[in-house]
Amino acid sequence: MMAVARQPVHVRKGDTVEVIAGRNRGKRGKVLRVFPRRGRLIVEGVHVVKRHAKPTPKLPQGGIVQKEAQISASKVMLVCGKCGEAVRFGHDHLPDGTKVRVCRNCGEQIG
Ligand SMILES: [Zn+2]
Repeated sequence: MMAVARQPVHVRKGDTVEVIAGRNRGKRGKVLRVFPRRGRLIVEGVHVVKRHAKPTPKLPQGGIVQKEAQISASKVMLVCGKCGEAVRFGHDHLPDGTKVRVCRNCGEQIG
C-alpha cells in the first residue's frame, strides 16, 4: 500500500512556485502536474533529468530526452503574483462563499 503524504500538496497545477530546498533551490517554474497521494509534483524546468529513449516516430533517432522529474511538494513555496515573493498563504471566503487563497505577505488574493 502506498504511503499517504502527511501534508497535502498545497499548490495546484498552473501555480508558479519557487523551490526552497535541495539542489534546485531558488528555481521558479509552473506546476505541470500534481500527485496528491505521493505529495509530489512536477515543475516546469525544475529537476530536469536525462532519459534514454527508444526511437519513436516523433524522435526517429531515439537517444537522450530531457524531462522534468517529480519533486517533493514540501520543497516548494507558492509564488504570489502580486508581490512576486515565495509566500505562505491562508484561505478566505468571499461574500458569495467562494474560497480564495490570500498571500500572507501582501494580503492580496492569489489566483
Ligand atoms: Zn503577495
